Amino acid sequence: MRVEIINTGTELMLGGTVNTHLAFIARELFPLGLRVQRQVTVPDGEAIRDAVRDTFGKADIVLVTGGLGPTTDDITRDIVAELLGLKLEHDEEIWRAIQERFARRGLKTNDRVKLQALRPREATVLWNPHGTAPGLHVPAIEERGTPHIFLLPGPPRELMPMVREKLVPILAALLPHGAQHEMRTFRVLGIGESVVEEAVGEALIAMGLEVGYCARPGEVDVRLIGAAPVLDRAATLVRERLGKWIFTSDERELPEVVVEKLTALGKTIATAESCTGGFIANQLTNVPGASKVFLAGYVTYANSAKTAALGVDAALIAQHGAVSGPVARQMAEGALEKSGATFALATTGIAGPDGGTAEKPVGTVFIALAECGAETIVLPEKFITDRETFKLRVSQTALDLLLRCLDGRDGVAKQTT
Ligand code: ATP
Repeated sequence: MRVEIINTGTELMLGGTVNTHLAFIARELFPLGLRVQRQVTVPDGEAIRDAVRDTFGKADIVLVTGGLGPTTDDITRDIVAELLGLKLEHDEEIWRAIQERFARRGLKTNDRVKLQALRPREATVLWNPHGTAPGLHVPAIEERGTPHIFLLPGPPRELMPMVREKLVPILAALLPHGAQHEMRTFRVLGIGESVVEEAVGEALIAMGLEVGYCARPGEVDVRLIGAAPVLDRAATLVRERLGKWIFTSDERELPEVVVEKLTALGKTIATAESCTGGFIANQLTNVPGASKVFLAGYVTYANSAKTAALGVDAALIAQHGAVSGPVARQMAEGALEKSGATFALATTGIAGPDGGTAEKPVGTVFIALAECGAETIVLPEKFITDRETFKLRVSQTALDLLLRCLDGRDGVAKQTT
């Protein structure tokens, strides 16, 4: 089945709205064994006509998003009906649902709102409990070479449940063999893309899998597509060769994995941040449920704050400098003591572009992990990059250090000072 997506909306062409529908829909269709072969984005209006016409004879399934609303630029429904030579008719059931929705909100309907109750008789209604305009499925007309056309609402909070609850079951029923392929993603932290590929690339391709790598700062995703039994064998191989670098084999982000692990183990965390400026605390508290594990975040940028808030010895700062292993250690141990958490992470470094010295160049950072009743780990690192990426890399490395400790995995050049 050849799938094409047409995303409509002038706001997408002006850069005001990021087109998130393509990524979302592509991911939802994947488990059905369906891949999007082409996607176009067009502004509201007549360009939609050419885009839809262009799919005839080339696609089996066409998903059109947006342009179902009540305003004059919402003409997707009219264009599709006209192209297929179908008449739009008023549907009393849709109209009643729209009126009820308006009544519940104390709003009055008008003639423009009523246009959303139009549909070709041949179309199936995809009910939209999260918005006004329903989606429509216009079945393929074989003798004319037209595909199955699905008209879907533009707002993501309407589109997403409609795709999951209405579109996917219809597509599953249209497919001759149901789901064919699965996708697995392994997330690796601490080694580069080329090292990852060298370790597993050839063997995975030899298994007949489709292999993709996606590198982001500090992380590499290894994405495998293929039949489930082959993927199971591949997973064993990937774990054998890259196990100590893999922080998750689903698509979760590192902070999510850390929060879930701490929660599962009933442990808590505090942060004492200098160069990351609260970034680690922010990343952890972005995860729903973080309140169960995150006790306190100290952002101690100035030396005086390190001393006042965390009890770092001013003489130690004078002796070693604020960016040093001993200070990172005292920051972590101070945060542990003040917060009463099971673990505390501390960061102190030079993000740049200024502030570096010959001994401690820009990019130098010390990360410390203190654990109640255990020896504090201090990790010296160097990330020569821009300020934002520096904060991300330090945060990642700190969270990775903690996760390795929770998992009992080694792999980092740990150093105690
Ligand atoms: P409405 O009744 O709101 O007019 P509609 O089905 O006509 O619904 P649009 O007007 O095309 O949909 O889009 C409504 C809003 O949904 C847009 O302003 C935009 O914020 C969001 N939206 C539309 N398409 C996309 C997309 N591809 N990715 C992300 N957001 C989108």
